Amino acid sequence: MKVPCPTCAKTLAWSKDNPFRPFCSERCKLIDLGAWAAEEHSIPGESEDEPGIPFDFNPPDETH
Ligand SMILES: [Zn+2]
Repeated sequence: MKVPCPTCAKTLAWSKDNPFRPFCSERCKLIDLGAWAAEEHSIPGESEDEPGIPFDFNPPDETH
């Protein structure tokens, strides 16, 4: 049985000897897990309205 690696799409043999299946390698497994973790940590839209300096902020009066 051949399956494509979810990370790099490389075809690999589904084998009990492959501890990283369905990935082709440990690297691809870690990449996939890392991508998943990154998505978990970044909430879409959360950083859009962070409190900060408003657009019409004027710096302190500095007359030269
Ligand atoms: Zn791979």
